[in-house]
Amino acid sequence: MGAVTARFRAVKGTRDLWPHDSERFAAVERVAREVFSSYGYGEIRTPILESTELFAHSVGQMTDIVHKEMYTFLDRKGRSLTLRPENTAGVARALIERGPQNLTKPLRLWYAGEQFRYERPQAGRYREFRQIGAELFGVASPAADAELLRMLFEFLSRLGFAALTVALNAMPTGDAREAFAEKLREHVRPHAEKLGPDDRRRVEENPLRLFDSRDPETRKVLEKAPTTLECLDDESRAHHEGLKKLLEDTGIDYVERPSLVRGLDYYTKTVFEVTSHALGAQDALLGGGRYDSLIFGLGGLPLAAVGFAIGEDRLIEAMSADGRDQRKARRVFFVLPGSTEEFGYALSVARMVRAALPDAVVETDLTGQGFLKGVMRASYAEQDPDYPFDVAGKWVQIVFLGPEERKRETVEIKSSATREQTTVPLQKLGQWLQDLKQ
Ligand code: AMP
Repeated sequence: MGAVTARFRAVKGTRDLWPHDSERFAAVERVAREVFSSYGYGEIRTPILESTELFAHSVGQMTDIVHKEMYTFLDRKGRSLTLRPENTAGVARALIERGPQNLTKPLRLWYAGEQFRYERPQAGRYREFRQIGAELFGVASPAADAELLRMLFEFLSRLGFAALTVALNAMPTGDAREAFAEKLREHVRPHAEKLGPDDRRRVEENPLRLFDSRDPETRKVLEKAPTTLECLDDESRAHHEGLKKLLEDTGIDYVERPSLVRGLDYYTKTVFEVTSHALGAQDALLGGGRYDSLIFGLGGLPLAAVGFAIGEDRLIEAMSADGRDQRKARRVFFVLPGSTEEFGYALSVARMVRAALPDAVVETDLTGQGFLKGVMRASYAEQDPDYPFDVAGKWVQIVFLGPEERKRETVEIKSSATREQTTVPLQKLGQWLQDLKQ
């Protein structure tokens, strides 16, 4: 039989997560929920679709994201909609709609979900990817940035990331930001003819975005450019110094990186990024910062805010590269009826096993093809890299039941690790399984 060619394929840059992978995503999200909720964060789920205008007004018209990476289309009534390229804008929109004055502050929210960007797909870069993020609203002091980073590092260390460093920068705000932009223009203008058309436009319209450029010529010109840290206003400087002190107090390793501006317009004061060497070229694991003007800029009341977004796909790739796995180790039981005659008995036995060991995976062989086929299937659990679950210590138990067992109301249980086989009367099965637990 020749290979079947699929007529329909996943859209370029998107992928299917089969159980083996989605279990890893679920496991990471479970840890996120545990850690974030222990800091008082509640989960928010915002729509994947938002109005296109929202992103133009928040992420910024001149950013790569808005300029060339959005999935934008007109709906049947001619409204321009966009598949969200990031989640902060949606959370901010939700907050304004609800009325921040109606919410207790500080307000702590986290999310996990799909984002869409029309980028060139490559390792660690997809057109549909997932981000896990958190946002803290209503606290202007650097204590908020520090607590957020503390929580982030706790999450990462729970996932086994030990020695991570956060790259930190600060952005000037208000008039100082405009003054910085002007200094940057003055520095770049004499070299403008060497730059590509996009970057040339940026020089005049939004020079900070030049730092996002991947063009080597632009990067060279920026090497000697003025830095944000040299141009900070007093308030931003005090915030930055305060944050550095708090990070030292709370034991978070940071390095100052003055070229870090991040590809979104809404950041004020703090910006940060964490990279992982395990990821190679696409090494940014996460990014974040403060965005004190965003809510006001979108038509809400002024509200201080700070947040981060982790690339969940990259996080999981970095963990796999290090051979780490957050999936919960599971005991696996294969319940094998000798023939179709024992199906009913097998279903009851399986139910008893699940009741005694709620964490176990209990698979009943439904083919009725007998013990041998069932044993072969069971051995997959230990060898098949696609098996969804992490089999605890390679612990598979095979439960045989044929006509004799059904008549006598017993089962034969064989451990695939020790090869030991035991006859267990149904009445004692629950207890026997409980004892196994210890
Ligand atoms: P950003 O929203 O651009 O600040 O990105 C935050 C994080 O999301 C990055 O550090 C990446 O880990 C992840 N990310 C951004 N774009 C992609 C993409 N196209 N594919 C996979 N992960 C991405």
